[in-house]
Amino acid sequence: MLFKSTRSNEQANKSAAEVIKQGLASDGGLFVPETIPCLTCEEIQSLCKDSYPVRAAKILSKFLGDYTYEELLSDCEKAYSEASFVGGAAPLVPIHGPFSALELWHGPTAAFKDMALQIMPRLLSRALVKTGEQRTALILVATSGDTGKAALEGYKDIDGIKIMVFYPVDGVSKVQKLQMATQTGSNVNITSIRGNFDDAQNGVKVIFGDKEMEKTLNEKGYFFSSANSINWGRLAPQIVYYVSAYCDLLLNGTCKLGDTFNVCVPTGNFGNIFAAYLAKQMGLPIGRLICASNSNNILTDFLETGTYDRNRDFYLTMSPSMDILISSNLERLLYFVAGSDKTAEYMESLKKTGAYTVDPEILAKIQKDFKGYFANEQTTAATIQKTYREYGYLADTHTAVAISAAEQYVSESGDDRPMVIASTASPYKFANNVYKAVSGNDPSSDLGALDELSSYTSTEIPYPLAGLESRAVRFTEVIDRDEMKNSILHFID
Ligand SMILES: *Cc1c(COP(=O)(O)O)cnc(C)c1O
Repeated sequence: MLFKSTRSNEQANKSAAEVIKQGLASDGGLFVPETIPCLTCEEIQSLCKDSYPVRAAKILSKFLGDYTYEELLSDCEKAYSEASFVGGAAPLVPIHGPFSALELWHGPTAAFKDMALQIMPRLLSRALVKTGEQRTALILVATSGDTGKAALEGYKDIDGIKIMVFYPVDGVSKVQKLQMATQTGSNVNITSIRGNFDDAQNGVKVIFGDKEMEKTLNEKGYFFSSANSINWGRLAPQIVYYVSAYCDLLLNGTCKLGDTFNVCVPTGNFGNIFAAYLAKQMGLPIGRLICASNSNNILTDFLETGTYDRNRDFYLTMSPSMDILISSNLERLLYFVAGSDKTAEYMESLKKTGAYTVDPEILAKIQKDFKGYFANEQTTAATIQKTYREYGYLADTHTAVAISAAEQYVSESGDDRPMVIASTASPYKFANNVYKAVSGNDPSSDLGALDELSSYTSTEIPYPLAGLESRAVRFTEVIDRDEMKNSILHFID
C-alpha cells in the first residue's frame, strides 16, 4: 500500500517506511493511505481468538505492506507485552448499562499515548533499515509533561535512535518531573530549561530549522526526527484497539457478529477518534462516533455548524491533554470526506484567518458519522463523582468528559446501542483532581494525592506511578534556552 499527502492530487508514491521516517508531507499535509483496506466479518470472527499483539500485527499488516507479518508480530509482542501493559493492552471494562470503558492506559506511563508510542519507535527503527538510512535518528521533544515521558518510554533502548527531551523547569508537576528525572535507558537524555513551555518548544523549533546544526549533525552521522502525533506510525496502531474492543463485545455476549456499536472518544488532536473512523471505513460495525471535548469546545461547534474557528478564548482545564485549539488530524477526515483540493483550501484559510467553513454537503457527510458534545469543569468533576459513587467506576478527568458526552448523546437520541468509551488515562495520572472530585477534599500535595486517592477508593496505584520517590534520579541538568544546542552536541559526542 502506498501513501500520499492530504493536500496533493498526485498519485500515492510513498511506502509506509518512508512516511514513518518522514512524518509530515513536504507540502505541509499529512500522509494518508491511497485506499482503506477491508476488514470482513470472517476476519473479525477469527481475530476473537487472538491475543492483543496478534490482533495488532494482523490489522497493522493491512496498512504497512512493506513490513512483513513476522516483523510486525515480533514488534507487537514486545510493545504490548504483559510486562509493560499489566492487565492487558486494551481491556474493555463495563461501567453501567450500555457503557463500557476501553482502558488504554495500562502501559508504562499510565496514559493512552503508550498505545502508539510503544510500537511506533520500533516501526521507525525498521524504517531506517528499509530505506537504507545509515545515520542515527535523533528525536527532539519539547514537553509540558506527559508526551515527553511517553516518548522516552517508547524510544528508550531502540536501535538506531536517540532521544532528547526538554521541559520547562517550573512548568511540569512534581510527579511529571520525577517520572522524567528517573527515566531509564542508554539512549535517552532529559534536560530542563529555565523558562516556560513556549521557551522549550520554540527552542526545539529553532534547532529543527537550523541548517548549520543539520550539517553538523550529518557530519557526526545523525539526523533530526520528531515523535509527532501526526505521524502515520502513531495513528495506525490506534485503529487496532477499536477492532479489539468489538472482538471483546462479541466474546462477552454484548454483541452478535454484525451488530453495531457506538464509540465515544475524549478528543484533543483528533487522532484517537480518527482511528475509530478508519476502523469504521474498513468495515468494523461502528454506528455513531461521539467526539467529546472539554471547555475548549471548538470541535463541538465545528460538528454542529461546519465552521472551524480558532479565534476564541483558550481555557486551561483539568483535562489538559484536550486543551487544544488546532486538531491537526481533522485534516485527514477532511481529505477522506472532501478530497485534496478542498482540504488544501480549508487549511490555507485556517492558516490565513484562523478559520474555515466546509460546504453544506460535506458537513452533512461528516454529521452522518460524528456528533460532538462537551463538558465544562463543573460537569466533569460531577461526572467523576457520580460515576464512582453510583457505578463504582473510577474515571480520570479526560475519560469523565467522554462519559458525560456519551450520556448527553444517549439522552438526546435515545440510541441505546453498546457504547465503547475510550478511557485515555489512569485516574492516578490526574490524582489531584480525581481525589478532589470523588472525596470532596483537597489533597495534601501533588504526590500525596496518589496515596490519598488509593486509600479513599481502595484501589492500587499503577506501577508506573508507584514508588516514584524511591527511584534513582539520573537527570538533574538545568540550562538556559541558548544552551540547548550545546547540550545536544554534548549528548551525541
Ligand atoms: C492525547 C490525549 C487525548 C487526546 O487524544 P487525541 O488523539 O489528541 O485526540 C485524550 N486524553 C489523554 C489522556 C491524552 O493523553
